[in-house]
Amino acid sequence: MTRVALRVSSALRQAVIQRARGRCEYCLYPVEAALFAFEMEHVVAEKHGGATSFDNLALACPYCNRFKGTDLGSLDPQTGQLTPFFNPRTQDWADHFRLEGAQLVPLTAEARVTVAILQLNQSNRLAERERLIQAGQYP
Ligand SMILES: [Zn+2]
Repeated sequence: MTRVALRVSSALRQAVIQRARGRCEYCLYPVEAALFAFEMEHVVAEKHGGATSFDNLALACPYCNRFKGTDLGSLDPQTGQLTPFFNPRTQDWADHFRLEGAQLVPLTAEARVTVAILQLNQSNRLAERERLIQAGQYP
């Protein structure tokens, strides 16, 4: 899994959180509604040469971070093609995903592998998102 880099300075951490507008950059879970700590996720894992820098860090909830691990992508469930994950540093979320109630609907191959591997529509995550929608905290 992507390690929580303790060497991320608090200034860098704050900048990453601010850029993400306080939401997981994959599932949009809001930091303010979370009882758990969010993580500094390496979009390209350190294992693959990714730097601990503003351009390679994303704000991620522990679920997304854990499921993504050090992976860079997977096989598109639709085509079987090796496909990179949605990249929050170079791509716009709204071009790749659409919200349908609490469901995150993938619009692209990158989004399909991201939904599959990060388990974005796992039943407990849908239930949690439903709760946040009711509370007016999501999206
Ligand atoms: Zn998330």
